[in-house]
Amino acid sequence: MVDNISLNYDNDDTIDPYCMGCNRLIEEGNVVAFGEGIWHVQCFLCAKCHNLVEHDSNLLLLSDGNPICENCSYNCHVCKKPILNEAIMTGDESFHVDCFRCRQCHKQIEDLIFAKTNQGIYCMSCHNERINKTKKAKEREISNPPSVLEKSLPSLPIEAESEVFNSLKTTCNHIKTYCNSHLFN
Ligand SMILES: [Zn+2]
Ligand SMILES: [Zn+2]
Ligand SMILES: [Zn+2]
Ligand SMILES: [Zn+2]
Repeated sequence: MVDNISLNYDNDDTIDPYCMGCNRLIEEGNVVAFGEGIWHVQCFLCAKCHNLVEHDSNLLLLSDGNPICENCSYNCHVCKKPILNEAIMTGDESFHVDCFRCRQCHKQIEDLIFAKTNQGIYCMSCHNERINKTKKAKEREISNPPSVLEKSLPSLPIEAESEVFNSLKTTCNHIKTYCNSHLFN
């Protein structure tokens, strides 16, 4: 039993006393509580380099709940600097919250709904504008069809260039930032 550990949580009934690293019951000694998991201190390893992670450093929690050490932090796709606090992930790319801006109006994308195109990232209003332009261009084409061409050309979907659409919100929910993990006996 684990009676000799007192977990200082307000809602401690959700804590599973199994180490997230080695999956063994945590019976005694120091543990690191991080996010929703706890680890033996010696099991708190970087998911990338497998080195011990300083439990009092700034950490980035991955979506599967494993920590990443500072050396292995993501670099921002825009400014190329490491991301040590909150990251915004879009597929393979990560951004500082502050660097995640619309390519066109340069406004910060705060509601995390965006359009990722092969040109870059756009806020929804700029993206819709672009779609409307494309649409209008298409309508012009349709109203003045070149008389020689047959209608056999496949019409490209208008949104074809936007790969990721509103998917950040989902991704983002899994990524949490913890500036302080708690070490207790
Ligand atoms: Zn362990
Ligand atoms: Zn690492
Ligand atoms: Zn940046
Ligand atoms: Zn914009």
